[in-house]
Amino acid sequence: MLRFSAVGDVVLTSPAIDALRAAWPEARIVYAIKERLAHLVQHNPHVDTVVGLRAGEGPLSYAKRLRAIKPDVVLDLHGKIRSKILRALMPGVPKVVWHKRDFRDTLPVKLALRPYHSSMLFADRYHAAVEELVGRSVPRGRLQYFLGPDDLLEADRVMRASGLDPSRPLLGLSPGANWETKRWPAERFAGLARRALLRGMQVAVQGNASEAHLGQAIASAAPGAVDLCGKLDLRGLGGFISRCTAFVANDSGPMHMARALGVPTLAFFGSTDPTMFAFDGHRVLFAAVPCAPCSFFGRRRCPRGHFRCMLDLDEERAWAALSPLFSAGRLPLLSA
Ligand code: SF4
Repeated sequence: MLRFSAVGDVVLTSPAIDALRAAWPEARIVYAIKERLAHLVQHNPHVDTVVGLRAGEGPLSYAKRLRAIKPDVVLDLHGKIRSKILRALMPGVPKVVWHKRDFRDTLPVKLALRPYHSSMLFADRYHAAVEELVGRSVPRGRLQYFLGPDDLLEADRVMRASGLDPSRPLLGLSPGANWETKRWPAERFAGLARRALLRGMQVAVQGNASEAHLGQAIASAAPGAVDLCGKLDLRGLGGFISRCTAFVANDSGPMHMARALGVPTLAFFGSTDPTMFAFDGHRVLFAAVPCAPCSFFGRRRCPRGHFRCMLDLDEERAWAALSPLFSAGRLPLLSA
């Protein structure tokens, strides 16, 4: 099974892994992924072996290592140039490739006829590839993230070092995203933080090192909120999200991890399409302005200049969606 990145896309393969295991209980499932992300699938009990693509490793070397495993079939859930090259370097092995988007969905967008709208859940496309591989219909799997044995310990260590008590109610905020038009404004995250602090909750901001400015801005605008940006590795990230009473995020990898952990999640969607994912029990806010969603992945800036897809989602509306999640408890796992 090939899926090299990114965090959310890898997390979203878990129902497909489930389905594949149910279809072929005796199969040895080998997962090919960037080494720095291997932890995301390392503890999935249905994955037998993880082969990490090392930083700087070329396709010839990596293909040689994959060929040494002697795969009977390859399921390509990546479907980009990197996996295409690898497939070419594994001649004679049957392959099934997933298709992220249906051209009937994307063509009207490319022709600027209408905003993008997915006709199928993202995870359903992975599932369809599994069914194509096994040649029959199989039950859908669940979106589930498997923590490693030290993940909670690592998260607790980082949290305690920053003055947080892992046993107390905690709101996790994840204000980052790879693209600017996927980000709800940091000052509004700070507004949610202030309200949660007033309710007696702990609040922590999560993000990578390049998102440190967001964590700092929120922590300074909401005194008492703790900035953990740059402090959590992948182990700690899963552990931290798992400790949260509720989680607030943009369309990003941590948002998918939170859903896969059953942590009640409020998600903001602006320039991207929320109908690609299931949110039963969680909450998703999407302003549905006429121009949205305007992109498949997100953009550096709003092409229309007004950024209404995010700015129309005000703090009051977000708090009304978020506060019921504090008493929701762990949610049943989804299938997408
Ligand atoms: S406001 Fe419209 S055009 Fe601007 S980023 Fe959002 S969806 Fe795209």
